[in-house]
Amino acid sequence: MSVIPGAWRRTAAGAGLLATDGAIAPTIFAEMSALAMSTGAINLGQGFPDEDGPAAVLDAARAAISAGANQYPPGRGTPDLLAAISEHQRRFYGLEVDPGTEVIVTAGATEALTAALLALIDGPDDEVVVFEPYYDSYAAAVALAGAKLVTVPLRAPCFQPDLDQLAASVSDRTRVILVNDPHNPTGAVFGAEVLAEVVRLAERHDAIIVTDEVYEHLAFHAPHTPIATLPGAASRTLTISSAGKTFAATGWKIGWVHGPAALITAVLTVKQYLTYVNGAPFQPAVAVGLRLPDAYFTDAAATLARKHEVLGEGLRAAGFTVHAPQGGYFTVADATALGGADAAAFCSALPERAGVVAIPLTAFVAPAHRDDHAGLVRFAACKRIEVLEEAAARLRRLAG
Ligand code: PMP
Ligand code: GLN
Repeated sequence: MSVIPGAWRRTAAGAGLLATDGAIAPTIFAEMSALAMSTGAINLGQGFPDEDGPAAVLDAARAAISAGANQYPPGRGTPDLLAAISEHQRRFYGLEVDPGTEVIVTAGATEALTAALLALIDGPDDEVVVFEPYYDSYAAAVALAGAKLVTVPLRAPCFQPDLDQLAASVSDRTRVILVNDPHNPTGAVFGAEVLAEVVRLAERHDAIIVTDEVYEHLAFHAPHTPIATLPGAASRTLTISSAGKTFAATGWKIGWVHGPAALITAVLTVKQYLTYVNGAPFQPAVAVGLRLPDAYFTDAAATLARKHEVLGEGLRAAGFTVHAPQGGYFTVADATALGGADAAAFCSALPERAGVVAIPLTAFVAPAHRDDHAGLVRFAACKRIEVLEEAAARLRRLAG
């Protein structure tokens, strides 16, 4: 504890990020991966694939290192990757993005989200509306930006927000509406009426929409719809995505954000003091990935959908109630019938009971709202089929 500088401790504690004993509180993902390592359990906690992505993308990174792409890339990102992102947005969504002024490359979606919030928040009266449960970095970034987090609940089984509750949560104090679609942890893909309501409310209250679309190519039933494609949205939307999920390269941390030039300039102003730049040899590789044929992207979604089916069948056979996802890496299941009404306790015991690690949904909600999601558990499906089958076999021990 004594190694932590006092000023830093005050800042992190003020933002509610420090453990009460003054130690660094690990993220739930780090904690659960460590539990999997120490117990030898199958790790269906932290969402990362256990297979490499497309060979052409991996080869391009190796070639870039050999070709000397090992020094700082330009602050906005390499021109070729910026062009590839722009082409990708036109090819899949019909969005026009000027690669020179309307897009920047970031250290994963995480940096894009944090830089966007730090850039957009003016002070403690500003509010950021998020759907709850939410990805863990959202609350941390809102706290670091010094704003107030306002949550709109997503409830099982469909995890779609109530439109009246959404409307009641947005006001003239709302600076940002943050939308993660497809959604981690619930697997929801928001309905057209939800997206339209977000745009209507943002226009009415002059808020900025910040999106997190890292699972854009992993929607199972219909092509993904970026909010920026909706009428009236593009001029007030920052669209964020990353290569981690699309190319099974979560450790590369190449993300991007695009939107109106003035907003991008604001984000870049902050971003240049967070990481400045990152991932020189990975940027050309991601450009190769974004230009892969359509079949790569449709196959990736179909393969993941099949994995969710295997996982879902295993969970049902073990006695869980499964909320089948519409997109993304995760399946949420209700463990109440297995004595898991307190999913946090259930997940702590799961490695010993069944040799599997999973994450309670309570890890993705504010402490005051934990009872609403008490029996729900998140399982990662982004693993090899044989690993999921082995996990399913182990989980069947729970059925007794
Ligand atoms: N947003 C969501 C919803 C995620 O699930 C994740 C985790 N992969 C991220 C952002 C972080 O993305 P990146 O690794 O590109 O920073
Ligand atoms: N996005 C991953 C998940 O939800 C975890 C990323 C991380 O460890 N920060 O599991």
